[in-house]
Amino acid sequence: MTEFIPYGKQDINEDDIQAVVDVLRSDWLTQGPAVPAFEGAVAKYCGVSHALAVNSATSALHLACRALDVGPGDLVWTSPITFVASANCALYCGAEIDFVDIDLNTANISIEALSIKLKQAEREDRLPKVIIPVHMGGLSCDMQAIAELAEQYGFRVVEDASHAVGGRYQDAPVGNCRYSDISIFSFHPVKIMTTAEGGMALTDDEHLARKMDLLRSHGVTRDPALMQGENHGSWYYQQVDLGYNYRMSDIQAALGLSQLQRLDQFVQRRTLLADRYDVLLKSLPVITAGRAPHCSSAWHLYVIRLELDQLEKGRRSIFEELRNAGLGVNVHYIPVHTQPFFEDRGFAKGDFPNAENYYASALTLPLFPKMTEVQQDRIVATLQEVLQ
Ligand SMILES: *Cc1c(COP(=O)(O)O)cnc(C)c1O
Repeated sequence: MTEFIPYGKQDINEDDIQAVVDVLRSDWLTQGPAVPAFEGAVAKYCGVSHALAVNSATSALHLACRALDVGPGDLVWTSPITFVASANCALYCGAEIDFVDIDLNTANISIEALSIKLKQAEREDRLPKVIIPVHMGGLSCDMQAIAELAEQYGFRVVEDASHAVGGRYQDAPVGNCRYSDISIFSFHPVKIMTTAEGGMALTDDEHLARKMDLLRSHGVTRDPALMQGENHGSWYYQQVDLGYNYRMSDIQAALGLSQLQRLDQFVQRRTLLADRYDVLLKSLPVITAGRAPHCSSAWHLYVIRLELDQLEKGRRSIFEELRNAGLGVNVHYIPVHTQPFFEDRGFAKGDFPNAENYYASALTLPLFPKMTEVQQDRIVATLQEVLQ
C-alpha cells in the first residue's frame, strides 16, 4: 500500500503534550489560568487589546453577531466560498443572510461586486448591518477597501480569519482589527494551529469584548457593576442576558499556548511548500493558488483551478483518481448558497457566477507543516500523470 497523504494535519510535539499533561495534573481543567494566558499571548501576537477564547470559531462568529446586535430584520453579507458557519452565525440571530460574489483570482469577496451591491442596496434601503469577509485559504481580503466602504455605508465588519492566524496584511498581523470590529480565528486541527476544538474572537472595542465575555458564559455575571437591584452577598450572581456555554477549557488553552510558540514556524513551512507548489506546477494545465499585493497568506489551503477546457477528464474523475492514488485532495468550498438549506431560503444556482465557476474547477492539494518535499514531489508527479 502506498502511504495516504491527507490534505491537512496537525503538528503536535512533546512540549504540546507536556503542556496538556501539566493542566491535567493541576487544580483547574477549566476556568483556570491557562485560558487568560492563551488569550493574552494571542492578543499580544496580533497587537489587539482583547482576545476571547471560545470552544469553536463557529461560537466566536455567533458571539460576534450577538455583540453587534444582529437580530431579526437585519441583513448580514458574507462570501459564498466559505464554510457554512460564516453564514449560519447570522441565521442563529434571526437575521437574513446574503452573499457577495468573489474575485476569481483570490476567491475572496470581490471589492467591485461589493461596491455595486452596496449601491443597489442603498437605493432599495436594504443595506447590511454586518459584513463578514472570509480570508480564503489564509489570504487576507483587501480590508482597507472594505473598511472604506464600511465608513461610507455604515456597516460593521467581522473578519472570518479562521484560515488566517499567522498571516499578514499591510505588514501587520491578521487579527489586529485595524480595519474591522471583530476578527475570528479557528483552532480546529486542520487549521494553522490547534486546540483540538477551539476558536477566538479579537477586538479593540472594550464594549464588544465585555459583551462577548458575558455571552460566552450564560449571560451570567458576578460583577456588581453589571447587576440590577441589590447584591445578596459574595455568592451572588445574576443572569443579565441570554448567553451560552461557549467556554474553552484550560486543557485546550494550554495546547494553544504551546502551539502558538511555533505558529511562525508553521506558517514559514507552509509558505515554503506553497512557493514550491507554484514552481512545480508551472507546466501543468492548472492555475496555481491566488496571491494578492500587501498580503502574506498563512497558507491554510493550497487551492488550484484545473484548466478544464484543456483537459479530457472532468474534475470529478481527476479527484477520484488522485484519491485512489492515496492523495487526500479536497474541494473548498461548495458555494454556500447552493446548499439545499439555503436554496430552500430563496437562493438558486446562477446567483453568484464567479463562486460557482471557481467551485467547478477548484482542487485543494495537501499542505501541512510536516509534509515533506518527497511527499510533495509525489503529489505533483501523480497529478501530472492523471492530467495527461
Ligand atoms: C473552519 C471554519 C469555520 C468554523 O471553525 P470551527 O472552529 O470548526 O467552528 C468557520 N469559518 C471558516 C471559513 C472555516 O474554515
